[in-house]
Amino acid sequence: MNISFWGAARQVTGSMHLLTFDSGYKLLIDCGLHYERGDAIELNDSFPFDPSSIDLVLLTHAHIDHSGNIPTLIKRGYSGQVLCTEPTAALVENLLRDSVNVQMAESKARGKGVKKKSNQPSVLYGQANVNTAIDRLVCLPFNEKFKINDYLNITFYPAGHILGAASILVEAIEDNTIKRIGFTGDLGKSNSKIVVNPQPMPNLDYLICESTYGNRLHSCTIAAEDELYRYVKKNCIDSPGRLVIPAFSVGRTQAILFTLNQLYVEGKLDGVKVFTDSPLGIASTQVHEKYQMYMNDESIEFAETHNGLFDFPNLLVIQSESDQKSLTYHTGPSIIVSSAGMVEGGRIQQHVRNNLQNPLCTILIAGYCAEGTLGHRLLLGQSSVKIKNKEHAVYARIASTDVFSAHPDRDGLYQYISASDSNQLKQIFLVHGESEGIDAFQKHLVTKGISKVMVPSKGDSFLI
Ligand SMILES: [Zn+2]
Repeated sequence: MNISFWGAARQVTGSMHLLTFDSGYKLLIDCGLHYERGDAIELNDSFPFDPSSIDLVLLTHAHIDHSGNIPTLIKRGYSGQVLCTEPTAALVENLLRDSVNVQMAESKARGKGVKKKSNQPSVLYGQANVNTAIDRLVCLPFNEKFKINDYLNITFYPAGHILGAASILVEAIEDNTIKRIGFTGDLGKSNSKIVVNPQPMPNLDYLICESTYGNRLHSCTIAAEDELYRYVKKNCIDSPGRLVIPAFSVGRTQAILFTLNQLYVEGKLDGVKVFTDSPLGIASTQVHEKYQMYMNDESIEFAETHNGLFDFPNLLVIQSESDQKSLTYHTGPSIIVSSAGMVEGGRIQQHVRNNLQNPLCTILIAGYCAEGTLGHRLLLGQSSVKIKNKEHAVYARIASTDVFSAHPDRDGLYQYISASDSNQLKQIFLVHGESEGIDAFQKHLVTKGISKVMVPSKGDSFLI
């Protein structure tokens, strides 16, 4: 068989890997949106293969860089199903609908400026295309082998990362030999909030492994409750200040709300009001509540004891104009959790702008911020930042923590690979990492005695 890397190859978006069997059967693993550089429509509107020739799509998890181009694939001729876990199906519906809204807004903004090319659509897909994509989703449980045909089985393994995320083991019979190929998808780190630990796939011949933080070590080694409480205490208990936390809508927002709930139960949030403001975050929290059984033991036990994970008396979920007013006129110590994580767009931008000149405020960046984003510019320590073409002086404190990171660091990745019987592996392909980091991770693995490691570029194809 042949494996081709069509995305997340020396980059971190656009995950899309194609297995073509000797029989001609084609299996596509993930179909994500590219959103790194260049024109998003041009990057995503066509495929390097005929979508109608694909027999089956497997989806590792709901994040848009893994799922976001499925509607385009269907629009361009794919007529089959998309296999994923139940929580992934629920989350992906919210994320795809949000993706349409984002594309519409961008198209509107573009319409006022640069003229688009004549044959280019203004958006990749609309809500009707999303409806069709949702109809194609078929849910599978974890840890159960599923027979696709006489020559092909697949099994989903828990990957951690976000709710429902799966690593996928593909077992194929070719020339009377079984080949076992494992796709990690995105992995979570051990002992994360909410999600389970990633479960390595056994007895692999080939491993396609994510490497997002292949050249980084997480700096925060204390528990999330302790880390978050450091900031709560400094800003909201010892002084009547405000803590503003930008958080991704799926996973990060829920991990932070759960941690704040734990602090509340421990009596550490007395007199501190918590506001959460993110429509997609609210929808995603509902999915987390529905699929609580997929979470780790700590979360399930807490939910059973305290009748839920994400709601506590000090919390106000902003859903109406009057909720918004409650936040505007609140003068006591408070915490605001809002999306999006990189402070680009979403409600968070307004909260950051409103609090930049407040010296009693700390903006706590709790996730990765790509270069050029407002989150990244704040982390650079600039004395003023431009938001919507207007300069704003920065008097608020800017801090960051990696305690809620959704990916393993270099050592976590190495431990995962070691647990995958690395000596038996014929080849490891590293994906989902920027060139500099992924090359460094390859070298690190070699120093650890794991030498059969390749870093494919986009379009590379290998016989396996
Ligand atoms: Zn992901």
